[in-house]
Parts: sequence; C-alpha cells; structure tokens
Amino acid sequence: MKKINSIETFVLKDSLEKNFFFSQWGYDERSICIVKVSCDDGTYGWGEGYGPAKIVESGIDFFKKFLIGENPINNEVIWHKMYRKSLDFARRGVLVASISAIDIALWDIKGKLLGLSVGELLGGVHRENIVPYATGMYFTEKDNPTKDYKIEAEKYLKEGFKAIKMKVGLGINKDLNNIKELRNIVGPNIKLMIDSNHAYSYSEALELCRKIEPYDISWFEEPISPEFYEQYSDLRMKSRIPIAGGECEYLRFGFNQIIKNKSVDIIQPDICACGGLTEAKRISALASSNGIDIIPHTWGSSIGLHVALHFISNLESIPGRMNESDFYLEYDQTENALRENLTSPKIKMKNGTILVPKSPGLGLEVNEEALNIYTKKTKGIKNLEELIKQN
Ligand SMILES: [Mg+2]
Repeated sequence: MKKINSIETFVLKDSLEKNFFFSQWGYDERSICIVKVSCDDGTYGWGEGYGPAKIVESGIDFFKKFLIGENPINNEVIWHKMYRKSLDFARRGVLVASISAIDIALWDIKGKLLGLSVGELLGGVHRENIVPYATGMYFTEKDNPTKDYKIEAEKYLKEGFKAIKMKVGLGINKDLNNIKELRNIVGPNIKLMIDSNHAYSYSEALELCRKIEPYDISWFEEPISPEFYEQYSDLRMKSRIPIAGGECEYLRFGFNQIIKNKSVDIIQPDICACGGLTEAKRISALASSNGIDIIPHTWGSSIGLHVALHFISNLESIPGRMNESDFYLEYDQTENALRENLTSPKIKMKNGTILVPKSPGLGLEVNEEALNIYTKKTKGIKNLEELIKQN
C-alpha cells in the first residue's frame, strides 16, 4: 500500500507588465497556490487551488496532518475526511479550494500509479478535442477602458478562436456600446459571451439583457450577486439570453441550491475551488440529471487548465446525437506567465481545438526553474526564457 508522506505548498507570484481591470477591481500581479503531494515510493501529484494564494496555502497546511500516512488511491475517503474536518466552520469558500488542490493532486498520483490519464480515470474520454473560448476583453485604462478592443479581438480571430467572452459591468449604456462594437468587429459567426462578475442589480441586469438581445449573446455570466438564487431564476425566466454562473459556488450542496432554484442555464464550477475533481464529478451528475449544461470556470495556472481538459473530455453529451455540439474550455488569454511557463508540455491550440492530454495523471510536469522563479527562490533573473537558455 502506498502512503502519502509529504504535502508541499508553493505560492507563485508574477507581476504583470500591464495592469488590467474588470467590474470589481484591477490586477497588477498573478498569484496562485499550487501543491505537490508525494508518496513513500516517490510518486507525486500536482494540484492547484483557486482563491487568495496565501489563504489557500494555510488551508492546505491545516489539512496536512490528517492526510500523512493515507493511501492516495482512496481519494473519496480522503475527500470526506477533509470535508468533515472543515464542515463546522467552512462550508463554503477558500478552505474548499484547499481541499480541491489536494484532491486534484491525488487524481494526478492515482493516474501515475495506474498508468491512466485523469480523463480515463474519470470513466473515459468522450472527446479528444476540446474547443477553447477566449476569456479576455478586460478593461485596460480607466478613461478609455476598451481602447485595445479591436487589436485584441482580431488577435483571437487570427489565432482561430470560435468564441470570445468579454467583460461588462461598466454601466448599461457603456456596456451596450461595447457589445455593439465587439459584435461588429468579430462578425456574425463568432460566439460572443458577456460576463459582469455580478456587477448589477436584478433590474439593471434585466434592462441590459433586453437591450443586447439583437447582438446574439450566447450567455450572460454572473449578471447579479451569486447570493440571490431566486433573482437569478426570475431574470432567467424574463431574459432571452441564457444565464450562466457558479464560479463563486462550492460543493454539490451549493450547486444543488442553484439547480433547485432554476437559477441558471449553464453552471460553471471551478474545479480548483468547488471541491476538486472528486466533487466536480458529483456536480456534473447533478447537472446532467437536471438538464443543465456545465462549462467549468478556469482562472489560474496550466495545472488548472489540464484539470479542466480532462474533466470536459469525460462530460456526457446530453441529449446525445450523432453531431455532438462543442464542449467548451474557458481559456483565459490575459497576461499570465504562470499559465505559459509553469508546466510542460505547453498547451497548444490547433484548428480551434486543444487535444486532451494522454499521458498518465494530469499529463504534465512542473518546470523546476519556473517554480524557483515564481516562488522567488531564484534571485536576480527575471526572465524565464533567459534562465532556460542559460541551462
Ligand atoms: Mg466569470
């Protein structure tokens, strides 16, 4: 029997060359907590938590003592142990992200031990190519927030993206103009989604929905606060635009709330926050048994992207039909060195799709040099490429 014998955390940071912002606040750096879980035979797995990195790290430290000596094959047993240890004081939130990071690392270990990819371990790969949508079109300047829209959108088109998600939440009239402008730039054949990051009240969101109906919006993400399940449902009934949400939701119990209230057309659990792959699999069963689509939220390093690729490869097509509709991966395109440089092989988009990794576990290796740079253990070398060249 294999035993877990160490759990190490890494808080990675990278300062952005150019700040950007959305309806809530701005970004000047990317910061992510990743975890390495190792076993007594030397096998190890990587995981990632979504949320404030130092707090995710503290959560992982909290769970550590309960997990040393456990058999990593028993991911559900370990998951339940962590859940019970945190239930009384953290039913939702960042401690669940810490559980998620550890859980993901266990799936990576399991895959390596059994010689299977995570997609295979989840039950099998329904599709080997996943269609990414570009998450971008953030605001760049306070006075002229959409200054670079044309350049950015044209870049995505050139790269082969078939779908683009833009930020809204600046106010109804400004959003309306920006949506109009972007639809004009991308033309009628590109899927266009909007995301307000819960910037609006119910009545504002409804007004915006009605005004943007002519622009063929595939979904309106987080139109209102995630606390208002019933308002979501009212909005959904009155809007012709599909409503999406769930990146701030946790565990199957939280998603059950969303689904029971008929709040959204599409749920968007973040696998690095909602309880890991173990819980995301349960959430997908809940979604499919209620006819709700599921398109996971991603925002982080390439570890999180790999996790999502495997998960999406295993999602059932409901309803099934000969010509299956596309299954989407959220592919953030904002500046993020932790997404580009942390792992190999690099994620590549070809002909508008990304291939699901086939090697055992998550199918990635963490680049040790990158780890040293982004945990600031290597001083005086700012550029990863320079460091790699030197080696
Ligand atoms: Mg979002």
